Amino acid sequence: MSTNQTTTANAIERRKATERRTQESSKHRDERLRLQRERSRAAPEQHVARYRAQDQERQQTSRALTRTSFFRLAFEYSADINYSAHSKIAIGPMDQICQYCQALKFRYEPPGMCCSLGKVVFLSLLSPPEPLQLLLAGKSNEAYHEKPIIVRYNFRHGRTSN
Ligand SMILES: [Zn+2]
Repeated sequence: MSTNQTTTANAIERRKATERRTQESSKHRDERLRLQRERSRAAPEQHVARYRAQDQERQQTSRALTRTSFFRLAFEYSADINYSAHSKIAIGPMDQICQYCQALKFRYEPPGMCCSLGKVVFLSLLSPPEPLQLLLAGKSNEAYHEKPIIVRYNFRHGRTSN
């Protein structure tokens, strides 16, 4: 609904309310005003209750994020919590380079994780034989048609081999 439509709808509603009130009996008017007074008296209490409920929720959220253990935290999941900002979850960029094998690693990854501190030496990959090389390079006309098939094939095997 546009702003003009909303303004028009509000003006129509105000006119209808005015008509209803002019036709209203004094008994109905007193009752309506009494209910209105009760609602306005209860409004601050409702506001405080709502604020307390929101504050309690915020405290639960904060407690959930400051817990040292994440055990069974998935069962208390809340969409309002930014879990990825937690220091135990934000592992940072993969910008550490192993001095032995030049593997990219995360900051707190153990030093021997990739090559066992240089004890394991990886052989360099050999170029694949033709016509696989041509297909992988993607320069031929056949590669243009074959590559999507290979990607789908690898994807399906990856899904079933986990
Ligand atoms: Zn390494």
